[in-house]
Order: sequence, then structure tokens, then C-alpha cells
Amino acid sequence: MSFRYSYMKRDTQIFNIINKELDRQRSGIELIASENFTSMQVMEAMGSCLTNKYAEGLPSKRYYGGCEFVDEAENLAIDRVKRLFGAAWANVQPHSGAQANAAVMLAVIKPGDTILGFDLSHGGHLTHGSSVNFSGKLYKPTFYGVEKDSGRIDMNKVEDIATKEQPKLIICGASAYSRDWDYERFRNIADKVGAILLADISHPAGLIASGFLNDPLPHCHIITSTTHKTLRGPRGGVIMMGQDFDNPFGLKNPKGEIRKMSAILDSGVFPGTQGGPLEHVIAAKAVGFGEALDDEFKAYSKSVITNAKAMANGFVNRGYQIISGGTDNHLMLIDLRSKEITGKKAEHTLGLADITVNKNMVPFDDKSPFVTSGMRIGTPAITTRGMKAEHMETIVNWIDQLLSDPDNQDLINSTRNDVNNFMKDFPLYEEKMEVV
Ligand SMILES: *Cc1c(COP(=O)(O)O)cnc(C)c1O
Repeated sequence: MSFRYSYMKRDTQIFNIINKELDRQRSGIELIASENFTSMQVMEAMGSCLTNKYAEGLPSKRYYGGCEFVDEAENLAIDRVKRLFGAAWANVQPHSGAQANAAVMLAVIKPGDTILGFDLSHGGHLTHGSSVNFSGKLYKPTFYGVEKDSGRIDMNKVEDIATKEQPKLIICGASAYSRDWDYERFRNIADKVGAILLADISHPAGLIASGFLNDPLPHCHIITSTTHKTLRGPRGGVIMMGQDFDNPFGLKNPKGEIRKMSAILDSGVFPGTQGGPLEHVIAAKAVGFGEALDDEFKAYSKSVITNAKAMANGFVNRGYQIISGGTDNHLMLIDLRSKEITGKKAEHTLGLADITVNKNMVPFDDKSPFVTSGMRIGTPAITTRGMKAEHMETIVNWIDQLLSDPDNQDLINSTRNDVNNFMKDFPLYEEKMEVV
């Protein structure tokens, strides 16, 4: 690797830590559904001199001089993400998915307004109305969830709840839901109650961009996403619209003209919730979006789904209970109660064998968020490592053996050895990246 990593030998204390993390990423099986491995060029853009530049405002409308080159980078990121999703408008400045949601809510609703989101304990996200998050503290949160028997969202129930609660904002999207979304029906419901519809596609964004899942852009007023999950770009967020529209509050600009939604959302990001944009990350987003426009990325996304289905089958065949019975996307949520192990114990045991998963609440969980009855598993990261469907059986086997005998230290040790050897066949960042 050609770039600045070699300078970091000046601070060996932190560099040794980074190298330990690199070793961990290389030698383990990464099954956290929200993680991925970016390309070297994404990291190179992130580690560039653009970190030094202040650029409050938008391209060619900045509050600082010297922005001509970061303007070019940001415009490129905007053009590419619009092309990738077929969007009419995008803001690439949100520092993260949570920041994107904060900016949208600040822009389109008022404190105290009712919002309707997917229940956190059923697979939703903190920023969709959790009581410990700004979204649940500033707004009045209401929720829809999945059905106990099917593990799926019943759209008639969503309509009933929306009709009763009269939310100003409806959010669809989740962090642990393995099924696709009916955005068209959500829009019908939003129109019926006069709500703005936000799709948070943080998790499946890459699969949507590749055309393998339903497209929210024609139906939802606003779309938010992270850029680092299935999309495989740098850690960050983005806001998009399939088409711009006049804002629903009749707000006017200083010239007395009705403001467009795009202008309202832009000001929700800056000055609403952020200061200077991270132009080095925005340049890396441009790189990531460029990679996602390539046919190779489409093949990758397809493989992510094929691998997830193969893995889900492997678990079902061994008697595990997957919420909703399977997956349409890159992840699955497994209820471990039939295997008599908690999510906490499962995460810990697998971690000892260098298999990384996260414990997760399952719908109607009787355990606390610190213990949980489930685990979430995803295939984006291992697919980037080059794994195919046939490798899923090997991994499921290891997991099943460990969870069936979680206190067997010999089994843990021998499995960790097998895992580390197995991962040597799937190289990661092999071009020189350690300190020299
Ligand atoms: C991951 C995620 C987010 C938050 O993204 P961060 O970058 O971690 O802030 C928001 N919404 C959903 C649905 C997510 O899955």
C-alpha cells in the first residue's frame, strides 16, 4: 500500500493497536450484519489531506475560501449517489446514519410531534423513537412491529396504528428485519393520515442500489442511509429524495418564494445539526459510490443474498428458529430459546473462537437488552472476503457445534485454530499496510 500509513511509525503506541485490529479483522469470521470491509482506495481517500479543510455550506455556496477542490469532490459524490439510486437530490454531508435521521427530523417535524417507527425490540433502530435517543425524547414515539406467528409486519395493522396515532412522520426501515418492505403501501398509509414518509435504508442500501430489493425512491418522500453497511463505502450517512417537492409547511425563503423540500433538508444538516462537513469522508463516499456503480458490485450484492439464504437454510436444517423463517436480504435474526442458550452467551462463546456476531433482542423477547434471546447474523463482510455459498455450511457447522457445547474449552480452541486457518484463504488488505 502506497500511502500515508508508513508515517504512522512516529506514534507506535497507536499504530500497534491498529495493527492488532487489522490482525483481528484478517483472522476472524465477521458476521456482524452492519459491518463490511471497504476497498483500499476508500480508505486512502479517508486518510487524505481533505481532513484539513473547513467547508461549511454546500458546493459553491460555502462560508470559507479555498473550497474549489472539495467542491469538486462533493459534487462528484452527489452526482454518483444520484446516479446509483436514481435520486433527484442528495445531501452527502451527514456524519453517520444517526446524524442523517436527526437532520431529517429537525427539518420536517417539530418537538412534541408524533412519529411512527418500527419497534426497536422487533428489529428497529434507536433513532426511530427509542426513549434513550433524541428521537424518543424530543418527539412522541409510537410503534408498529411484527406478528408473533409470522415474524412479519402486517400492513393492515400498520394502517390501523397510523390511523389511531395520526403521526406527522412515518419511518420504515430496520436494523434486524430479514424481509423486504412494501414502500408503496406505506406511502398509501402516509397519504391517508397526512404524514411524511421516511425510508431508512441504512442496512439494505447496497442491495437496493443493485436492484435486488424493492426500490423506496418512487414511493417515499425522503430516504436516509448509512454508507458503510451493505453499500461498502466509508463510515457515514446520506439523505436523498426520488423527487423534490414543495415543503408541506408553506415556509418561504427571504424572497417570499415557497421553499423546496431539498432546501429544508439541506438546512437540517447544516446549520441544523452539523458544523463543518468531513470532506475527506465525502471524497471516500464518492469512491464508494463509484465502486457501487460498477457491475462487479452488482455481482457482489447478489452473492451477499445467496450466501445469506444458504446460511439461513443451514441453521433451519439444524433446528434453529429464524424469525420469519428465512431471509430476503443480507441478514437473519435467530431465536436461540429452542437451543437453550442466551444471545449474550452465544456472542461470547463464538467470540472466543474468532467468530464475531452480535446478541440481539428477538420480537416478544423475555430477556433484557444486555442478555437477549437472539443473535443477528449477516453476510456482507464475509462475502467481501470472497466466500461463496459452499463456505456457509462450514461456518454454520462451527457455530452449531459451539452453541451446542458452549463450555467445552478444547472445542473452542480447536475451532479457533480451524477458523484462523480457513481465513487464510480469504486475504484482506494484503498489499503492504503494516508499519515498515
Ligand atoms: C445503522 C443504522 C443507523 C445508524 O447509523 P450510524 O452510522 O451507526 O449512526 C440508522 N438507522 C438504521 C436503520 C441503521 O441500521
